[in-house]
Parts: sequence; structure tokens; C-alpha cells
Amino acid sequence: METRGYAALEVNTPLVPYTFNRRALRDGDVAFDITYAGICHSDIHTARGEWGDVIVPLVPGHEIVGIVTEVGPSVTKFAVGDRVGVGVFIDSCGTCENCQAGEQQYCLKGMTGTYNGLERDGVTPALGGYSNKFVIDQNYALKVPDSLDMSGVAPLLCAGITLYSPLRHWKAGPGKKVGIVGLGGLGHMGVKFAAAMGAEVTVFSHSAEKEADAMRMGAKHFVITKDPSALASLAESFDLILNTVSAELDINLYLNLLKMDGTVVVIGLPGKPYAVSAFNLLRLRRSLTGSMIGGIPQTQEMLDFCAEHNIVSDVEVIKADYINEAYERTVASDVKYRFVIDASTF
Ligand code: NAP
Ligand code: ZN
Repeated sequence: METRGYAALEVNTPLVPYTFNRRALRDGDVAFDITYAGICHSDIHTARGEWGDVIVPLVPGHEIVGIVTEVGPSVTKFAVGDRVGVGVFIDSCGTCENCQAGEQQYCLKGMTGTYNGLERDGVTPALGGYSNKFVIDQNYALKVPDSLDMSGVAPLLCAGITLYSPLRHWKAGPGKKVGIVGLGGLGHMGVKFAAAMGAEVTVFSHSAEKEADAMRMGAKHFVITKDPSALASLAESFDLILNTVSAELDINLYLNLLKMDGTVVVIGLPGKPYAVSAFNLLRLRRSLTGSMIGGIPQTQEMLDFCAEHNIVSDVEVIKADYINEAYERTVASDVKYRFVIDASTF
């Protein structure tokens, strides 16, 4: 299936137009025309080689929505014309205990990423969503509610589920104080979800001009992290803090904000390790942990939650030829709050 997209032909080079063929439809597959694809900071880390090896040509993109154009003979979940979404993985072993539990992102044999690898047949390159067509096994595709704006849905497939999952796992809700560090693509979804779940939300940001937006999204408090005394005055007051910052930061400042048995969840993935003070961790029996996207059942639950609460991402829709500039602006924290590519421009 001839497909037009954008690719990095070498690591850490600008993305350029790239035409390739997607594999033929298998029995249980759906093919779809992509309508929108979000730009996740992970795309940028990968394309720039910040996380290690890159398989080129690299077609990034793992926040994908579109309309089904063809279904294989054994497909039951989708029909031609349906809305469909794809996130960070396109396959997994399907048989290990984590896959069986619907936590495919933690597949013991390794999930198959949407890009920068091979499919499980060991030969077909996995090429991502910065393109106009896609083919996927129906079991790894999501149903997109009809009521939601498609451009705003695309970022839910990574940014959305990545914040929804830990908020559910650590039981954000009424009576809980939740902190979201970094108001970017991931962070702004965390604010919307935590507020909709009934938690009291504080945003920690190094961008003072984002305060009004944070409040509009449901935050009760906004703390500018450039002022260390503002952080110190909040010591021992939070149940849960989700760190979405893509750059290095001092995690100890946030551990110190946890009350008894509170939890800091690492979600942002700068290439370098975090330094952690043992004293900060032991005091008040605090936890430091991580969370990676979410499984297929929970991603569907998140999309249905969005339909119920009328939640989508705040997006800036761009044309394909703006991708490289969008990368620069994302790294500079200058996006409100997710760039989404209009796939008709590939
Ligand atoms: P993003 O849109 O660029 O947002 C990151 C935010 O971090 C920025 O908006 C900014 O918020 C803050 N920030 C950036 N640089 C900073 C700096 N130098 N100092 C302090 N704060 C800074 O990125 P994203 O797409 O949300 O992704 C965030 C991170 O999560 C990335 O590392 C990405 O790879 C990772 N990620 C993890 C998962 C997972 O499963 N765990 C999934 C997807 C992505 P303020 O302006 O408000 O300070
Ligand atoms: Zn992502």
C-alpha cells in the first residue's frame, strides 16, 4: 500500500518527505486513512538519538487517528468508515501474563513499538504515524468515540493514556492532592483527567505564562518552579506527583513535597539518570516509581472517559512541512499544548 509520510533519513537530521509501502492486509487487520498524527516529545528524543539506537529511515508518530478503509475477513471490531486510533505499540506476544492481563505495554517479550523497530515477523519495518495510511491488527487498534474532535483525540493515544493510567493506578480522586510537573503535551492531559476525577490539582511549571491555561484546564494552584521557596512552602502536602518533564530536573525537590506514603511517578524520560536522596525517600515512607503508557483495555476506557467528560487535547494543527519547526518549538516548551499534523498534507 503506497504511503506518503515524513522520515528522518539519518539520526538527528531534519525530517523530509518519504514515500514507502505498507504491508498487505492480513486476515485480522484493518487499514485506515490517517487523519491526524500528534507530535510526542518521545518522537523528538528518538529522532535525535537521545535514547540510543535509531533504525533509519525513521517515520515517527504514535498518536494516530483515522478512518477505516478496509478490513480483513476475520475482523469483527471495525467496519469500513469507523473511526480508529493507534498508540505507542502495534503488537505484543499476546500470551505472557501481562498481555493476558491487558497490560501489553509491559509484555514480557517486549511490546512492538509503532516505530523504530521491526514488526514481530522480524522483517517488516515498523513505520509510524507521520504518514497518510496505516495497517494494524484489530486487537491493537482503539475505537474512537464519534462525539470527540478528531484532531484533539490524536494526542490521547499517547499523552492521554500515559497520564490516565497512573492517575487510576494511584487512585487520584476526591480528597487527593495531585501535582503535575510540566504543562506540556502529557502534563496538560494529566490536569484535565485529575480534575475530572475530582482531585485537587497543582501544576508545577517553569513557564509563568501558562498559569491561566492551567486554571482553565482544571488546576486549583499553579507553582512557578523557578522559585525554590514556592516549592519549599508546600513540603509534605501531596499524595501523588506525576513528573512529565522531558529535561533533567531535581526529583528530590518533589519527593520532599509528598506526605506520608505519598508517591512520585517518573513519566518524563530524559536520557540521563535521576539522582535521588535516600533521606528524602525514607522519610514518611515515600515511593518513587515509574509508569509507561497503558494497555489496550485501559486505553479504550480512557477514550470512553473522554467522551463522557468531553475531554480532548488542546492542539495546534499543522501541515507536514512544519514538522521540523514544531520540533524546535516543542523543545522550547512553546506549544499549546500538542502539535498535531493534518495527514492530508503528506
Ligand atoms: P512536552 O510537550 O515537551 O512537555 C514537557 C514539559 O516539560 C514542557 O512543556 C515544560 O513544561 C517542561 N520542561 C521542558 N523543558 C524543561 C526544562 N528545561 N526545565 C523544566 N521544565 C521543562 O513533552 P511531552 O510530549 O509531554 O513528553 C514529556 C516527557 O514524557 C518526554 O520525556 C517524553 O519522552 C516522555 N514520555 C513518556 C511516556 C511514558 O510512557 N512514560 C510516554 C510519552 C512520553 P512547563 O513549560 O510547564 O515547565
Ligand atoms: Zn508519546
